Amino acid sequence: MTDGDRTVALVTGGSRGIGRAAVLRLAADGFDVAFCYHSHKEQADEVAAEARRAGAGVLALQADVSVAGRAEELVSAAEAALGPVGVVVANAGVVRDGPFAGMAQEDWDTVLRTNLDGTYHVCRAAARSLMRHDHGAIVTISSVAGVHGSVGQANYAASKAGIIGFTKSIAKELGRFGVRVNCVAPGMITTEMTDGLSEKNRKEQLARIPLRRPGTPEEVADLVSFLVSGRASYITGQVLGVDGGFAA
Ligand code: NAD
Repeated sequence: MTDGDRTVALVTGGSRGIGRAAVLRLAADGFDVAFCYHSHKEQADEVAAEARRAGAGVLALQADVSVAGRAEELVSAAEAALGPVGVVVANAGVVRDGPFAGMAQEDWDTVLRTNLDGTYHVCRAAARSLMRHDHGAIVTISSVAGVHGSVGQANYAASKAGIIGFTKSIAKELGRFGVRVNCVAPGMITTEMTDGLSEKNRKEQLARIPLRRPGTPEEVADLVSFLVSGRASYITGQVLGVDGGFAA
């Protein structure tokens, strides 16, 4: 399925939610797509099949991005199967919410290792390939919590704020190689990650969103699609919200 003119996009956490929407959108945009997932093989297989129906070359792999070696294997496998990676969407993320004063060390570590270290591992593993590409692009996924903080999410907000500093820094480092690096900061998006919110919490959050509704994964994927495209050719080092006005 690999075609010399097609760019390979690597998406982490592509089995569901925002990552799934990004895989399918990039496949529809004409990318070949490699993606990893942590533990939902059946969902990943369905996403892969749907992306193939859109005409994309696809590789779906189980990989834990919090482990540096697994991120390197992921990039190597993507390149062996589809070709050099030209786009990275560092999307994989987890939450382990709770009041910080009583937060289990394990919940802090899991969230920082997955969200922040995972983003670093994958971007670093793909850096050389991106620098050799004519129009390399990275999109990282932060959150409104990383910009504004969020009660009960000290670990998550710290990881997502770290992603913003990381994004801006590597945008400065990689710009001279023509690689653009931008960050998307979603607000409340309907996915399995937000399924667990209590009704009270959901109502409170919705009341703070000017558009009065949660966003969809596809609305986030639309911005990802734009940011990795030639239409965003002079945009780098930015944090862009998809949040219904929450952070306005
Ligand atoms: P989700 O839980 O539906 O999907 C998360 C994906 O990440 C899954 O594919 C899962 O397999 C993968 N993943 C988790 N841990 C992993 C690991 N260690 N290694 C590899 N893959 C792993 O979540 P979502 O709502 O689609 O969120 C996607 C991203 O968007 C996350 O970074 C999340 O923090 C961010 N985000 C989500 C929201 C929201 O409201 N849903 C808001 C802001 C930011």
